[in-house]
Amino acid sequence: MKSYQHYINGAWSSASDNATFTTLNPASEEDWAEVPAASEEDVNRAVAAARAALYSGDWARMTATQRGNLLRKLAERIRERSDHLGDVETMDSGKLLKETRGQTGYVSDYYQYFAGLADKIEGATLPIDKPDMHVYTIREPIGVVAAVVPWNAQMFLAATKLGPALAAGNTVVLKASEDAPAPMFEFAEIVDEVGFPPGVINVITGYGEPCGRALTSHPDVSRVAFTGGPETASRIIHNTASNLAVTSLELGGKSPIIVFEDADLEGAVNGIIAGNFGASGQSCVAGSRVFLQDSIYDETMERLVARARQIRIGDPMDEETQMGPLATLAQIERITAAVARTREQGAQLYHGGKRPEELDRGYYYEPTILGCPHQSVETVRNEMFGPVLSALRFREEEEAIAMANDTQFGLGAGLFTENLARAHRVSARIHSGILWINTYRAISPIAPFGGFGRSGYGREAGLDALLDYTRTKTVWINTSDQPMANPFVMR
Ligand code: NAD
Repeated sequence: MKSYQHYINGAWSSASDNATFTTLNPASEEDWAEVPAASEEDVNRAVAAARAALYSGDWARMTATQRGNLLRKLAERIRERSDHLGDVETMDSGKLLKETRGQTGYVSDYYQYFAGLADKIEGATLPIDKPDMHVYTIREPIGVVAAVVPWNAQMFLAATKLGPALAAGNTVVLKASEDAPAPMFEFAEIVDEVGFPPGVINVITGYGEPCGRALTSHPDVSRVAFTGGPETASRIIHNTASNLAVTSLELGGKSPIIVFEDADLEGAVNGIIAGNFGASGQSCVAGSRVFLQDSIYDETMERLVARARQIRIGDPMDEETQMGPLATLAQIERITAAVARTREQGAQLYHGGKRPEELDRGYYYEPTILGCPHQSVETVRNEMFGPVLSALRFREEEEAIAMANDTQFGLGAGLFTENLARAHRVSARIHSGILWINTYRAISPIAPFGGFGRSGYGREAGLDALLDYTRTKTVWINTSDQPMANPFVMR
């Protein structure tokens, strides 16, 4: 069995109490690697290393251009090793090899983008309303960043945090998910090779309690970057009540895809399939509430079922596979129960709704299509984080907008229409951080990513993300040739 260690202060170590746990391959259900389970003491050591690197040593003295160069080197190494990193991520999470390899290659572009921004963080000179004063602002790093990620796309979700954090000069403690931590330790090996000064990037893993709690509530952590579920997010907000860390939250969603009768149906069906069955539906931007205009409802459902039937489910390592397993057994159990309850609530099962009979091992679940009578049924209200599509009918544009906005989430949304005016009109009224028109699930390091409402706040990617990892300092300089006046003598 493969064995990993924590990466703290540029060195490899076991947990302080030697605690470990195993991680399994969801396709074979077999344990394949052992990782250390961080104690509070390990968290303290990692934060202390990050804090020391922030204020003294090579990182603190480095120019922004040199920081950018290190990030560029990291990007190159990740690209060179993307096949290997993809293999490990697939083994640990069950995501398709095609997807993990491709995504890891693209992760390199994220570091590349932020490498270029490292020496473009500028302050301003202020046209201040007082004589004999020169006033300017500087954007500084915020401090030690606690980056906490879930299992579903760790290389990627770490990059969207570490890229801007490091470009801005912060130091990081990255907490890998307990459910598929291995890719983060492979990443730590690359960090080590690239030659970041010790303590700039520390990689640990462990459970929410004590590791996640101790990290996000640590008095020396000034910035928390979290991706995960809304319940954990609430706990994190509670944790940061003590350190008042600046926090960004990338949470789940229940994103709508609206298909109007004037849409190109082929494109719409592709968008819906990608939005629901890509990554086996384990995607925060899953477009899992599908609104179809009455006149095209039956035809679209027929096409969706035909496409779902053709999806090849199986070994994520196989190039031909189109849908792999879910990451954990708990996911399967949760989804199975939710689909059963939704059917009792009046939904019609068009396809799937069970584990595939031909696969006797692995956490597989069929692509599932439900026709739902209204928005109150369970699969429409709750994030499934699995391959479950809930379709609903609408008659008019106004009704579609109201239904799409009838959720507490607000991450992504898709519109399919050939009517340009309608595309702009409707997108302006949808409450979501990202709008895709006649496409779905596209992302880029250049485009801000994040949600509204219960989908969280803060932005990952783009210039917004970089600025989110800086704090503004204002500097006042008296330029008069007179000493500062006595404050008790009014002139
Ligand atoms: P999760 O919230 O259970 O866990 C995420 C991380 O939080 C893990 O590393 C976990 O150990 C840690 N954690 C747990 N308890 C903690 C605590 N008390 N304090 C600090 N950290 C703690 O999420 P998950 O089930 O692993 O991932 C699925 C969720 O992530 C879904 O809701 C999904 O939508 C969301 N997600 C969002 C995005 C996005 O960018 N918006 C991307 C991917 C996934």
